[in-house]
Amino acid sequence: MIGGYERSNERLDQGEAPFCNFCGKEEDEVGRLLAGADAYICDDCVALASEVIEEGK
Ligand SMILES: [Zn+2]
Repeated sequence: MIGGYERSNERLDQGEAPFCNFCGKEEDEVGRLLAGADAYICDDCVALASEVIEEGK
């Protein structure tokens, strides 16, 4: 996803709809959006990350 990190931070500062910091999808584009301290991750990316971690074992 294009857009870049600076644009992402602007959006957070403006208090707009949260979006996944990994794939860039917005909250209404994903099933679940999990909030971290300073970022969000969607359920798709959680599943992908889980797969990668499992493969690395
Ligand atoms: Zn995502």
